[in-house]
Amino acid sequence: MTFPKLYKLSKKKNASISDVQQMENEVLVWNLDFKRTLKPDEQSEWNVMQILLGDPTPLNQDQDDVFRCKFSNATTFSAKECYEHSCMEDGDKFPVKMLWRKGVPSKLSFMIWSVFQNAIPTMDNLRRRGMVVINRCWLCKQQEETELFFPKIAEGIQGKAIWKGVQKGRYLVAKNISITINNGKSVSFWEDLWCNNEILRMTFPKLYKLSKKKNASISDVQQMENEVLVWNLDFKRTLKPDEQSEWNVMQILLGDPTPLNQDQDDVFRCKFSNATTFSAKECYEHSCMEDGDKFPVKMLWRKGVPSKLSFMIWSVFQNAIPTMDNLRRRGMVVINRCWLCKQQEETVSHLFIHCSMARSIWQYFLRPFKVEWVTTASIMDHFFLWKMKFGRNRGRKIWELLPYAICWTIWLERNVRAFENQENHVQEIVIKVKALLFLWGSLDKIFSNCSLNDLMNNWEIVVNL
Ligand SMILES: [Zn+2]
Repeated sequence: MTFPKLYKLSKKKNASISDVQQMENEVLVWNLDFKRTLKPDEQSEWNVMQILLGDPTPLNQDQDDVFRCKFSNATTFSAKECYEHSCMEDGDKFPVKMLWRKGVPSKLSFMIWSVFQNAIPTMDNLRRRGMVVINRCWLCKQQEETELFFPKIAEGIQGKAIWKGVQKGRYLVAKNISITINNGKSVSFWEDLWCNNEILRMTFPKLYKLSKKKNASISDVQQMENEVLVWNLDFKRTLKPDEQSEWNVMQILLGDPTPLNQDQDDVFRCKFSNATTFSAKECYEHSCMEDGDKFPVKMLWRKGVPSKLSFMIWSVFQNAIPTMDNLRRRGMVVINRCWLCKQQEETVSHLFIHCSMARSIWQYFLRPFKVEWVTTASIMDHFFLWKMKFGRNRGRKIWELLPYAICWTIWLERNVRAFENQENHVQEIVIKVKALLFLWGSLDKIFSNCSLNDLMNNWEIVVNL
């Protein structure tokens, strides 16, 4: 605390006193093993410290150091006394005397202390920390359980953000899917849009709360009663008058259950493409249209480019990849330094476009297209440049794949450096980009009359051929 600069500079941060004493020319001196020679102000701090420390006195190797508790004068440390002392210092009204009782085990004292601090993992505390739990008293079992897992979970920041996104996607998908019910086993009674213009959970929230069959499929809630097929939501208790009338309305809406066709699975059809297979791409485009968003959807999917890469690019656009600045923002303690240039702070736009190393990679590949490097503010703006078409024939196709190959390779290089302690030189990174281009391009027969070797050695010619 007194000499923070010297502490920072010392390589012996965990040193004991014996670790920092050493013989020099037969004189015992202090040695803190500084990382570098001290600057003038640090040197004067070090001088002050040496005056404070005085000359080191020779240690007694035969005996251990002795720690004595000041407030009790005993050599054994007493948690109780220490705690009482700390409370006295705080001038706190904390009922210290209540905590320790003769005969009461100390783990119990700790529990009582936690109770005082409201720090025991009761259901409400777990929730406050973002855990997904049903809050119901384990003793009386009476207090109403709150909403089920899916819709309104976790007051915690993380849970909320993630589930909000998932829910949004879920409704979007639900809205755009037409359902043909056959055996009723795949269609969710409450969550799928199968009989109404809104999912039933939203239209009848009270009944949903009361139903024991929250995750039921349609076939789960149909049952034979006196040889008649009826709806059975298995309510937790008999319905009160207002709930009963809601249930009546629901039954009118549902109509009588139609017998299911056990031989066939339910069919989900995607409204916007009329296909039975769900397309993430189309769903995404659709959702962007709804948002009236200027998001460059078309940029995300490219023939030949693996979908994990599209996902990475999307994350880059959202500033959601774990770069150093993002990790910090999430509360992690990291030193923010770019893994490529090792000079500036790592942010998404720095890593992919502003970093000197990234820039030299882009420049190398852009040269044969006769495109001047323009530094854009964000990676998204950078991708917008790609809407302009450059190159002819093969060049045009390479142009379209280029940003993906470069971004992906930069990201891999960054991770190799961060986690595997390896480094590739710019030339090696360029080779990797070309290898990716060749791999993806071969699906589209872009390189049908040239070899990988040509691509490696004659980049300019291959592009302009
Ligand atoms: Zn950099």
